[in-house]
Amino acid sequence: MATEKTPFEKTAVGHQEPIADGDEYIESLRGRGLAVYLLGEKVGEPVDHPMIRPSINAMAATYDLAVEDPVLATAESSISGRRVNRFLHVTESVDDVVMQNRMQRRLGQLTGTCFQRCVGMDTFNSLYSVTFEVDEAHGSEYHKRLKNFIRHCQELNLVVSGAMTDPKGDRSKGPVDQADPDLYTRIVERRDDGIVIRGAKAHQTGCVNSHWIVVMPTIRLRPEDGDYAVCAAIPVEDPGLTFIYGRQSCDHPQHGGRRYRRRECTVFGPGGTDRHRRRLRAVGPSLPVRRDRVRGAAGRALHGLSPAQLRL
Ligand SMILES: Cc1cc2nc3c(=O)[nH]c(=O)nc-3n(C[C@H](O)[C@H](O)[C@H](O)COP(=O)(O)OP(=O)(O)OC[C@H]3O[C@@H](n4cnc5c(N)ncnc54)[C@H](O)[C@@H]3O)c2cc1C
Repeated sequence: MATEKTPFEKTAVGHQEPIADGDEYIESLRGRGLAVYLLGEKVGEPVDHPMIRPSINAMAATYDLAVEDPVLATAESSISGRRVNRFLHVTESVDDVVMQNRMQRRLGQLTGTCFQRCVGMDTFNSLYSVTFEVDEAHGSEYHKRLKNFIRHCQELNLVVSGAMTDPKGDRSKGPVDQADPDLYTRIVERRDDGIVIRGAKAHQTGCVNSHWIVVMPTIRLRPEDGDYAVCAAIPVEDPGLTFIYGRQSCDHPQHGGRRYRRRECTVFGPGGTDRHRRRLRAVGPSLPVRRDRVRGAAGRALHGLSPAQLRL
């Protein structure tokens, strides 16, 4: 039913066809040249790393379940007019919410671990209503941009992760009051074609296993925090991103060869120096984000929202 073309050019390493199953998903992650650091070393190909691969296998299970049990793991989307992976679906009914929960339970049974797509699914669902309300209040066009982006992800069957948690620094202070202005991700430049952002995000589940990252604010913001009120989509292969892969007690190969293991990632954007590995902050060149990928409030639009709405 939707005829409007998405404004996104070739993204997610040049995909033109929807990813069909878990094997194709795993192949889609190869050759992206990501700057991933783990245990102090730069990782050559994350897909083949023995500590990273199990989490990729768990994500692949979300694709395979959609093939094996489409009633459970896919849904009809009115955004693209297609049957889409349920993790890319904005719920449209009570039944959708129930099925979402059943699918997650089934994947928990199958993998016994985190399958990493829940934050992206929640991101779509929360931004869908927040952008609508922002547009109503401010006459902006974030909702339309978001729908275009969701359609793009549905058409190619991509993985989206949500980057909300900032390093935060002194928790008693707001973003603009921190000694280091980069402790919360912020807009450092506004251009005709978009914005440039800079900062870091922490504890991000499955970011190197995704195709897109959606950056969102992490705490209640005040008018003076305007540069920090930013929500935008970034392709994971963007050269401005550096990923520091986190450790878990169960993650080393010597502790067993299970197919799925749980682990979380930390993403720092942008730059990639020794300093990144030692300190919880990001420095270095800033990251441009095209205007059509900005989902919220470059400026004042989010200020009217409640803390609950901003905690996406
Ligand atoms: C398994 C796992 C997966 C995750 N996946 C993601 C993900 O995909 N994307 C993402 O963005 N994040 C993710 N996170 C991060 C998660 O959202 C954060 O850890 C969480 O929001 C808490 O933030 P924090 O760690 O900075 O803790 P803090 O903000 O430091 O909070 C620590 C404690 O201090 C308290 N506290 C904080 N500030 C104050 C204050 N001013 N006054 C009094 N008390 C205070 C808090 O209530 C809490 O009890 C993940 C975390 C885990 C554990």
